[in-house]
Amino acid sequence: MPAQTTAPSAESGLMVRAEQVHKSFGPLEVLKGIDLEVRSGEVCCLLGPSGSGKSTFLRCINHLEKIDAGRIWVDGDLIGYRERGGKLYEMRDKEVAAQRRAIGMVFQRFNLFPHMTVLQNVTEAPVLLRQAKKAQAREHAAQLLDRVGLGDKLGAYPGQLSGGQQQRVAIARALAMRPKLMLFDEPTSALDPELVGEVLDTMKDLARDGMTMIVVTHEIGFAREVGDHLVFMDGGVVVEQGDPREVISAPQHERTKAFLAKVL
Ligand code: ADP
Ligand code: MG
Repeated sequence: MPAQTTAPSAESGLMVRAEQVHKSFGPLEVLKGIDLEVRSGEVCCLLGPSGSGKSTFLRCINHLEKIDAGRIWVDGDLIGYRERGGKLYEMRDKEVAAQRRAIGMVFQRFNLFPHMTVLQNVTEAPVLLRQAKKAQAREHAAQLLDRVGLGDKLGAYPGQLSGGQQQRVAIARALAMRPKLMLFDEPTSALDPELVGEVLDTMKDLARDGMTMIVVTHEIGFAREVGDHLVFMDGGVVVEQGDPREVISAPQHERTKAFLAKVL
């Protein structure tokens, strides 16, 4: 680990700051020094070819993967480490779990519990983790499900819903933990094309309500319309970043150009 550098201050308005994040799997170096900043309330779209390390990077932010070097702060908190007397110590599992609860994640595959109703899927974690009493959790869940347009599906089972509806339940489930930050890993790539729009609309609403989001996506239209910031990754590094409209209309790097030519 490199020498300790200072955490972003509350006044900096940064929700996420990643500094020289490295991650290898055995001999395979997947992240080769990622620097990234996401301001509070901002939607950061992460683009890049398959295998460039996008999922790994998201997983590092919420500590599903442990980084080899570098630092990640979320809302001023160093992920996975605690500072005491000028030294850094690895956090215990319990502390890591507490940090992770503040970060919601939505995957390509929704992984809802098939034997539970929509409402139960959304209340399960907050109740289990004793974040809320059952009645409170139900009320909050019903509000969230209403917000994602599923107020009439509380008693349905995942198998009775379309892929788009299931993904919206997954979003409500993540929101039930009242996260400060939402991470989306290709949330629409497993959906039939006609169901993509409803999920993107839900995400757009969330962005409008001020949620800070990092979204890995190939949906260039979403990045252009909703994104405040676009980051293009390739081969484990950030190749190019900036205003989505500018990067998309006038990419500076050959690799960005080649990628955009394929997905546009
Ligand atoms: P992306 O999301 O951009 O497609 P990933 O982060 O999923 O890229 O993967 C980047 C590289 O890391 C790929 O070569 C992938 O095979 C490898 N990789 C990801 N997770 C693991 C793992 N747990 N063990 C070994 N290799 C992994
Ligand atoms: Mg991926």
